[in-house]
This record gives sequence, C-alpha cells and structure tokens, in this order.
Amino acid sequence: MLPSRSVLLLALFAGSFHAAGNMAFTVSIPQPASHILHVTFRVDGLKGELQDFKMPVWSPGYYGIGDYARNVSSFRVEDGSGRALPFEKTSRNTWRVAAGNAPALVLNYDVFGATSFAANTFVGEDRAYISPAGVFVHLAGEIQHPATVTIQMPAGWKQISTGLEPVNGLPGTLAAPDYDVLYDSPILLGNQEYLRFDVKGVPHYVAMEFIPESVNRTKMLADLQKMVTAATSLIGDVPYSHYTFLMVGRGNGGIEHLNSSSDFFNGESLTNDAGYLRWLSFIAHEYFHNFNVKRIRPIALGPFDYDQENLTRMLWVSEGLSVYYEDLLLVRAGLMTRDQYLQKMANAIGSFENASGHHYQSATESSLNTWNSGSGVGGDRNTTISYYNNGAMLGAMLDLKIRSESSNRNSLDDVMRGLYRKYYQEKKRGFTDAEFRAECENAAGGDLSEVFDYASTTKEVDYARYFALAGLKLDAAVEDATGGYLGLDTDTEELPPAALAAGGRGRGRGGAPATRLVVTDTAPDSPAFRAGLKPRDQVLSVNGTPATAAVLNDSLKPGARVTLHVSRSGAETDIEIEVAKNSKKTYSLTPDGHATPSQAAILGQWLRNAQ
Ligand SMILES: [Zn+2]
Repeated sequence: MLPSRSVLLLALFAGSFHAAGNMAFTVSIPQPASHILHVTFRVDGLKGELQDFKMPVWSPGYYGIGDYARNVSSFRVEDGSGRALPFEKTSRNTWRVAAGNAPALVLNYDVFGATSFAANTFVGEDRAYISPAGVFVHLAGEIQHPATVTIQMPAGWKQISTGLEPVNGLPGTLAAPDYDVLYDSPILLGNQEYLRFDVKGVPHYVAMEFIPESVNRTKMLADLQKMVTAATSLIGDVPYSHYTFLMVGRGNGGIEHLNSSSDFFNGESLTNDAGYLRWLSFIAHEYFHNFNVKRIRPIALGPFDYDQENLTRMLWVSEGLSVYYEDLLLVRAGLMTRDQYLQKMANAIGSFENASGHHYQSATESSLNTWNSGSGVGGDRNTTISYYNNGAMLGAMLDLKIRSESSNRNSLDDVMRGLYRKYYQEKKRGFTDAEFRAECENAAGGDLSEVFDYASTTKEVDYARYFALAGLKLDAAVEDATGGYLGLDTDTEELPPAALAAGGRGRGRGGAPATRLVVTDTAPDSPAFRAGLKPRDQVLSVNGTPATAAVLNDSLKPGARVTLHVSRSGAETDIEIEVAKNSKKTYSLTPDGHATPSQAAILGQWLRNAQ
C-alpha cells in the first residue's frame, strides 16, 4: 500500500545519481524454529527522490529463475531518523522507495526459508544456511559497492562458516568488496565441525554437518588435500587467500563459488567405499569450478545480470568439463584407479546412449535451454540431454584429439591453463564460443571441427575412434534387461478438482488423490511408437484393468500382447501392442593390448600411468 501523496514521486524516473556511502546488513534469527531470517539494511550517503532496491531473481551457479523476492515479507523502510517512508514494488524483484532525498535509509524485512538446498536459504532450530542472492538486496546500479554483513547468532550457535572476509575487531561482521562477491558467498551458521588443511601455504577450511563419527576425518582431509593439490598444480595457481568447503551432510545439490563451495550430500553414504569415491568426485567437481566457470568462464557468465537469465551455449564446457576433470583429478591424486576411471567414462556413454534425448538435443542447445528446465535436466518428454555427462565425454574426446594431433605435446590441460592466463588474468573477461574453440585448435595445432560438430548437433558419436587414440577399445554389448519393453514413458498426474466434478475417471478411494496415467513420450521406432501412441494420450485401462503405472508395468511380459484403452482429445480407442524384450546397451573401455608406442604414451600421459 502506498500513501497517495507519493504517487507522483514514484512516477518519476528513479535516480541513478546516488553515490552511496556505507552499506551495512545485520542478520538476526529471533525465532529459528519459524524458519525466518530478519534483515536490517542501512545505506548512508544517499541523494535522490527515489531509490530502487533489488533482489536477484537467480543465484550464480544455479541456472534457473528462483524469484527469491517471493520469500520476502514485512518489508518496511525508514529514513535515518526513524520516519517511515512509502515504497512500492515496481517489478517482481524491485522495491522503489520514495526517499525524498533522505541521506540514510534503513530497510527491514523477513526472509522465509524452510527448504534445505544449495540455492535456497534455510533456517532451522539449530542451524541456518544463507544463500545470499535470496537474502541481500542491492541498490540498483550499485553492484560494485562494498557491503558488510553482521550476523547476530541465536544463543548457543557458535560457528560462522563462509568465504567472506571477517572484519578485524568486529566479531560476527563480514566484509564483501562488492555484491558479486557477496552473492557468491553463502554462509553456514550453527555448531558445525570446523577442520583445516593447507595447500601451498593457503588455508582450506572444511565446515561439516551430519557426517557420521565412523568416517575418518584425517583421511578425508588428506584426500581433499591431494585433490586440491592436483587441481592447483594443473592450473599452476592458487587464486584465493583462503577456501571454505561448506559440507552439509544432508540433502542434495552442490554450487560452486569464488572461494567456497556448497556441498549438500548424504553423510551416511561416506561410510562405504563406493559412496566415498562418489563423494570425492562430487567435491572435486565443485572445487574445480573455482577455476572452470568462476575464473575460466564463458563471456555470458559474468559480470552477471541478476534481473534475468544469463544465456550461454557453453555450459557443456563449464559444467561438462568440470565433470570430466572431477575424476581426472582423482586419478592424478592417486584416489581413483585407471580401471575405475575408464569404467565410469564407459557408464557415462551408456547412460547417454540409452536415453532418447540424444536424438533431439545437442550439448550447446541443452546449455542454452537449461533455464527452461532447471540445470540441464527435466522437461515432460525425454527430449533433453544432460550437458554434464555429455560434456564430460566431449571433454575426453577433445583431450585425446589434442594429445594425438600435437604428438602428445599438448592436452586439454594446456587449454585450461591458456584460458586462465589469457582471459582471466590478462584480459579480465570471459571468452566467446569462437575464442574457446580457437584455444583448443591452437593446442591441437589443427582443426577440431568434428568434436565441435558433436557438441552442436545430434549426430551419432563415434566414441571408439577417439579412445583408440590412447590405445583403448570401446566395446558395446546389448544385454537383456529385466521385464518387457514398449518404449512408452508415462507420468501419473493428479486430477484437478474440476475434472472430478465433471465426472473424471480414477476417482480416489479412501482419501487417496485421484490420478490418471498420461503418455509423456514414445521412443523412436519402439512398439508403442509403431502402434500409434502419442504424447498426452491418457491410458484409461490396461487389458481391462484401470490403468496405473504398476498395472502397466505388470503387463510387460516379453511376447505378450497388451490392449491399452486410450483417451485422446476426448475420443476413446483401443490400441493393441506386442511387448518386446527389454534390453540396454552397456559399454566397456579397456586397453586393446597392441597399442603403438605413441598410443601408449598418450594413455600414460592422460591417466598419469595410474594403475
Ligand atoms: Zn557443476
């Protein structure tokens, strides 16, 4: 609500001639159990009738619109003497304040956070995780301005873990040189464990929650130290003065930051060898991002526009090559064997080839469209791919081709080092698609259009030819899988109340929600495709039994015929399909036994002779 006297003021253009002074946030959590964080923001040195305050609509590293302003409530503004000032929302993430030339403004607002996830703020009874893009507003046009954050901890909370710098002499106060750093520095609050190891004299802090006592801390630190040593040796630099791993041993999701990472995982999974190795890959991935994406970055990914999507075709490089390097680092650090590495690469090829998305979408398209689907996955039909595993395969192909073309003198490592020096250190900007390709072709000393074509088209990939460059053979086998195969993807949708009132089928019994089984996709040339099933067809019954996912699944006996009673655009029909045998392609990568000396040298250099 806005008092009428200010309407005229707000119709004016919001002044951008404010040379603001001090910007100071105070964060308090008066009632942790209510999931509410209270923020006070004081700005001094202002001049202007109107001031716009903005909250990002997305968080760097998580390529989806989060609309964080929706979690904000009880927003109010006063001038420096405590007089309430009018304001209005002028966009989904902008508060316009009728400041009336007040030199100081004090904003107060609450942020609600009840979902524990790496891109969300969470406040709980004994801990909180601040995802800063969804907590701190900025004065429009003043992203480059420094800011401080003072944390007022609830009683009994002792640890503040973050990549932000502590301010000397002011316990609980942190400083950010600008809002890009502030938005890239999450803060973990509570009573987490706090460990440390050093690499090349630089401290690395490990803040951990919910890790079972049986997990050996000494080994964890030693392994992380080896991984960080491998990564910093690859690039030839340690670009920060300290680094913090925020390890939340519950939930999912990881996000990289400039000198920290948010790593959400299940702490119990660290109690077995396979889970521990997966965890190391995950941590290595988020860590390597401090180079690949935070510093070695496509031009679209910084400086950021916090008001909208930041589109790029290069997430297969930023994410995919980080997947590629997460395991290579472990091999080089002696934490993963060559066989484990090759099997993981073969499995990635399998999961890519067994999903239908690769017929529809390229790695560059997947990168560009991620904002529609949430970090590269999702969508109703299986028409998308993951630029994560596809990017890792493209990374291996680029690396092997560069090694082979340059007579094993150069590698993808040289490309990463070159990009780091030339664009991050010297030009202080990101690189274009063409510049990335030029660096790769420069290292190879020749044309790499075949690999770049694979990245930008859906043509079938001849993986074997690339792995052969290192004397490896890729074997593909079609194996029987359990159950039968229709090539039909379905989804169970809840019926809206209106459909029930209109006599919709599948009325729930005993309070269970009423549902319907809907076709989401048919695989090309599958039995379901040939029988004429289409996306959005509603399956009403399977062999006369009301359709559910379980009923459909039970009917899948190879060789059997099933009759689906289907509703399409209101018309009902029977479709008969013969169930095929279920199968899947599996891949393996092994040394082929008669490698030439140069192939053997490439393999040795690539996987560092790891056994
Ligand atoms: Zn990543």
